This record gives sequence, structure tokens and C-alpha cells, in this order.
Amino acid sequence: MTDTLHLDKRQRAMLAEMGVRVWSPMSEAAVMAAPVNEAHSFAAASELATHAIANAAGFDTAAQQMPAPVAKAQPEIAPAPIIIQRPEGIDQMDWSALHSTVSGCQACSLCGSRQNTVFGVGAPAVEGEAPQVDWLIVGETPGEDEDHQGEPFVGQAGKLLDNMLAAMKLSRTGERTAEGGGVYIANVLKCRPPGNRNPKPEEVAQCLPYLERQVALLKPKMILAMGRFAVQALLRDSVPELEGTPYGKLRGRVYQYQNVPVVVTYHPNYVLRNLPEKAKVWADLCLAMAHLKGSE
Ligand code: URA
Repeated sequence: MTDTLHLDKRQRAMLAEMGVRVWSPMSEAAVMAAPVNEAHSFAAASELATHAIANAAGFDTAAQQMPAPVAKAQPEIAPAPIIIQRPEGIDQMDWSALHSTVSGCQACSLCGSRQNTVFGVGAPAVEGEAPQVDWLIVGETPGEDEDHQGEPFVGQAGKLLDNMLAAMKLSRTGERTAEGGGVYIANVLKCRPPGNRNPKPEEVAQCLPYLERQVALLKPKMILAMGRFAVQALLRDSVPELEGTPYGKLRGRVYQYQNVPVVVTYHPNYVLRNLPEKAKVWADLCLAMAHLKGSE
């Protein structure tokens, strides 16, 4: 660093008259002898002080030509989430390992905006084990309420789903009895897409192994696929005509996923916007109940 300020006694006196306090930087030897941090800050401080004083006195032309950079306020940008690959062996995990893996999942960018992961809800179970259920309801993605509470279908769509279950003499947390029953509700995505946008293919790809393992552990007797993304996720490998077919056209038949029968129906959010479609949903539920009864 070059010392740009050389003041004789008279100049110092003049500056003092003007109210400018002259501060003597450490000698180079003193700076070098100071501990590293101290030396660094002393060196920086002496340079700043030198320029400030010289500027005030109108001496330091170099400083006038190249003003010290002024720190600008930076706009706040949310830090990008750290993406960490899913662990191996999801297809071997037990229920509690699967649950905690989902809770800590950072396999796509949705981990940066979620409040909670939404694993699922259903019949009571022995600690750490999958509940025993006949029914698995598969929805699409958590919304704002679900993200907040960490439970699927708790908003308006959830109320409609609860009414649908009640009409089937089922409930979201009812136990399976000798007559059957027992429900589990899960989504294709375990995290809410910001602004409730549609899930991206890469998000579905990252999340699907969790649903696959849930199905394998729950071993339901019937799956209800509610909505386009649920239908695509469950039937993409077994229904060639899926691509390009509106999912409503797939209603009325029984498909298979992991050897479990699947019935397609409209998503409750769609039904809320198109109330007359309730009758079609009831027809789908009747098909699923009849199939389940017939297979017993
Ligand atoms: N819609 C879904 O598909 N899932 C939810 O959990 C809530 C709304």
C-alpha cells in the first residue's frame, strides 16, 4: 500500500484549524509485526483514513478520480435449496424409515418452499408400521392448508372427500373391522408446489418411489386415483392409451397397479368447480365398492 498523505507540521496545523483530525497510520514495520487479523484491519483502516483526510484537504487526486466503491443494497434473494439425492433402497424401507426419509427429503426444489412434508393419513396403526387398510385414496399435491398442517386433504377438497367416504360408510381415520374398511390417503407429491401450480415431471419422478413403497407396504385392496396427475402416476406403465387421453375418459373400468385394482375418478377440486359431476364420482365409488365386494 502506498501512503498518499505526506503532511508537514504546517499542513497538519491547518487541518487542525479546519477541524480535521489527522490520524497517523502505523508504520509498515508496526503493521507487519501485528497479529495477522490486526495487521489486516490496521492496514485497511490506515488506507481509508489516509484517503479521507487527503480528500478533505483537497490533496488526493487519485482518490477523487477513483472514488471508493459504495456498497449497494442487494435485493433479497431466497437461497436456492440444496438438492440431495434420495437415499438408495426406498423399495426396502419399512414404514417408519420411509416416513422419516420423506420428512427429510431434499430431492427436488420443493423442499425449499414447503412448510411440512405431507406423508399421508389414515387408519390407526401400530407404532412404526403401516396401517391395515382396504382403501388407498391417491390425490395429487398438497395445497396451502395441507402444507401448513402436514396432512392431506384438509381444505375444501378434503371436506368433500370426507363426505364421499361417509357415503361409503368409511372415514379417514376409521379402523379396519371384520367387515373391512380402513382408509389411507396419500398424494403423488409429498410437498406443495408453490402457488399450487401443477407438479413438474421431474418432481413427480423424484417423489413417485415414496408412493410406490407406500402401496407395497399398505397392500390396499382398492386404489382410488383422483385427478389427472394421480392417474398418470399410477397407470403410465400399464395403460398405453394414457398419453393424450383426457383422464375422465379412463373412468368406468378397473385397472391394476402393483396388482391392486385401481378405479379412476375426478379430483374433488374439479368436482367443487363442477358440482353436477358429483353423480359421476358416486358412480365411480359404486364401481370400486362393487369390485371390492366381488373380489372377496
Ligand atoms: N388436493 C390433493 O390432491 N391433495 C391434497 O392433499 C389436497 C388437495
